[in-house]
Amino acid sequence: MATFLKAVCVFCGCNRGVNPRYEGAAQSAGRLIAEQGLTLVYGGAQSGLMGVVAKAALASGGRVIGVLPRGMMLREPPHSGLSELLVVDSMHERKALMAERSDAFLALPGGLGTLEEVAETISWTQLGLHDKPTGFLNVNGFFDPLRAQFDRMVEDAFVLPAHRGSIFFGDCPERLLGLLRDFDPPKVHKWIDPDES
Ligand code: AMP
Repeated sequence: MATFLKAVCVFCGCNRGVNPRYEGAAQSAGRLIAEQGLTLVYGGAQSGLMGVVAKAALASGGRVIGVLPRGMMLREPPHSGLSELLVVDSMHERKALMAERSDAFLALPGGLGTLEEVAETISWTQLGLHDKPTGFLNVNGFFDPLRAQFDRMVEDAFVLPAHRGSIFFGDCPERLLGLLRDFDPPKVHKWIDPDES
């Protein structure tokens, strides 16, 4: 079993969504990350599911790092009581730092921001810029259409099955974290040499 997993980056909505199951799942994920001794890296805000995950991890004694762009601090005030708040100059810097500080990514239900962030981490794994896995916590079937789209990309030969293999879906946070922990990066041709990117 791989023992690389020390920090997990969570992407999720700055809203809570209509279904209380989303909030429950965010609480479970935050608590579990802390109980497993993992550091939570996230966007730093106190709003929505983002705030729920952070609060749950902190309440369980976890270490939580927030990464927030300076220009968003008024719109998305940071969660008070974070172990570390990293203030950066842009969204690009934010995503790069979140990726650098994490060993795996976990997406919870969210909107366009969540989709954008998680699409980047997956494509960076495909490019070989990092070899970190991504999991989708599929609460209430929220990610069923996205999973079908990824499968379609493979069926229609736009994505290699090996690259699809770095993406996991599950409705049980324990099992999903286990899959991320056990992930063995695919030995496939990388598109870019990270030293040259
Ligand atoms: P959403 O999933 O749309 O609720 O967005 C979740 C969070 O993602 C937002 O609160 C922002 O902090 C962040 N976000 C939104 N758009 C971007 C982006 N283009 N790059 C990085 N983070 C983003």
